[in-house]
Amino acid sequence: MSEDYFATGQCLCGDVKYSISSAPVRMGQCHCDDCRRSSGTGHASNAFFKKDDIQIEGETSSYDSTTDTGSVITRHFCPKCGSRVFGKNNVVPDIIAVTAGTLNESDWFKANAIVYNKRKPKWDFMDESIPTFEEMPPTV
Ligand SMILES: [Zn+2]
Ligand SMILES: [Zn+2]
Repeated sequence: MSEDYFATGQCLCGDVKYSISSAPVRMGQCHCDDCRRSSGTGHASNAFFKKDDIQIEGETSSYDSTTDTGSVITRHFCPKCGSRVFGKNNVVPDIIAVTAGTLNESDWFKANAIVYNKRKPKWDFMDESIPTFEEMPPTV
């Protein structure tokens, strides 16, 4: 891992590692049922990068689920430790969503939008300065 990277990260056991060369194109937080279940907590926090800007080492397993809008999200996780590391959406094949919790250093992370707020559990508290949408806004 070189200091030239914008960010690096890994799964819990370290079998899956990644390095990212440029800043994210956007960042988001999602409370939909699928993100809650796959993360095991109140929401998923994702930083979206151009596919060409991220290098991933190590084998992952994946699971496909279909969103409300009909797109297919493929969530990739470490087959050994189960950490969810990144995801892809078939509608935007040149973008990879990295789970913010797997970053080695993530002080720069701040969601541009909170989506599926209507599915947010009562115990999950958010930064109220972030634009919040009850479902998926048309622009995201
Ligand atoms: Zn692992
Ligand atoms: Zn979601």
